[in-house]
Amino acid sequence: MGAVRVDLSGQTAVITGSTSGIGAALAEGLARNGANIVLNGLGDAGEIEQLRARIASEHSVTCLYHPSNMLKPDEIADLIAFAKKETGRLDILVNNAGIQHVAPIDEFPTEKWDAIIGINLSSVFHAMRAAVPVMKAGGHGRIVNIASAHALRASPFKSAYIAAKHGVYGLTKAVALEVAQAGITANCINPGYVKTPLVENQIADTAKSRGISEEEVVNDVMLAAQPTKKFVTYDQLLGALLYLVSDDGANVNGNAITVDGGWTAK
Ligand code: NAD
Repeated sequence: MGAVRVDLSGQTAVITGSTSGIGAALAEGLARNGANIVLNGLGDAGEIEQLRARIASEHSVTCLYHPSNMLKPDEIADLIAFAKKETGRLDILVNNAGIQHVAPIDEFPTEKWDAIIGINLSSVFHAMRAAVPVMKAGGHGRIVNIASAHALRASPFKSAYIAAKHGVYGLTKAVALEVAQAGITANCINPGYVKTPLVENQIADTAKSRGISEEEVVNDVMLAAQPTKKFVTYDQLLGALLYLVSDDGANVNGNAITVDGGWTAK
């Protein structure tokens, strides 16, 4: 459930890709601390409505859903405009939507490259581009981009993902410098391996690419990189997020909190 508590009452948070995995957990964590939530992401309409209604009722906040596709710049701008129109403000933007594809460079499908760069990197640009004027007008903003340990380190067979995540970190630093005097901060959270649907799907693909068993992927590839030998939990990421969005986090800017069990210490 997470031990860190911050009073976010009355604030509005938009979390992209929050119908699953890390995004859903972070959205619920922000709601638990009082923020009104705008969910976004793909998935079954009935399941998304159940998630939306449950977050609203369990945490007594406004929880809305906007279906914008992170490959479409106009729809991303609509997501930000929707949050402002429906709740009157925008305080927190968590750019979390992401996809993965694992293949050697010479077999990497070009359409997968385009999709990963579009969803994992360009959508972060489009969302920040739309959100910064709203945050500036409100005199307050916290942008938190969910990058990855792969924003700092490479692994084979993930060329598009590594390029996108390194790009997100650089983009975050540039925007942080631009907004520093406007009451806004922009930072990354860099998770190591978290056992979400995205990672579950990678296990089989990585096993195929490397010609090893799925058990070997988990123990010898994924958690081999993570010195604690433990998957990162949703609550450990939520703790980092709550610090960044709190008043105490106001001077952390253009940086990253890396929650990777020591992976990038190597
Ligand atoms: P996930 O697959 O569980 O969730 C991804 C979310 O993005 C879903 O809500 C999905 O609907 C949404 N999404 C995908 N394509 C979209 C599109 N075109 N438009 C709108 N939404 C779209 O994945 P996750 O593991 O929770 O990953 C979330 C983020 O965390 C990603 O950016 C990922 O790169 C990053 N990350 C994950 C791990 C990990 O180990 N799971 C590690 C480091 C970083």
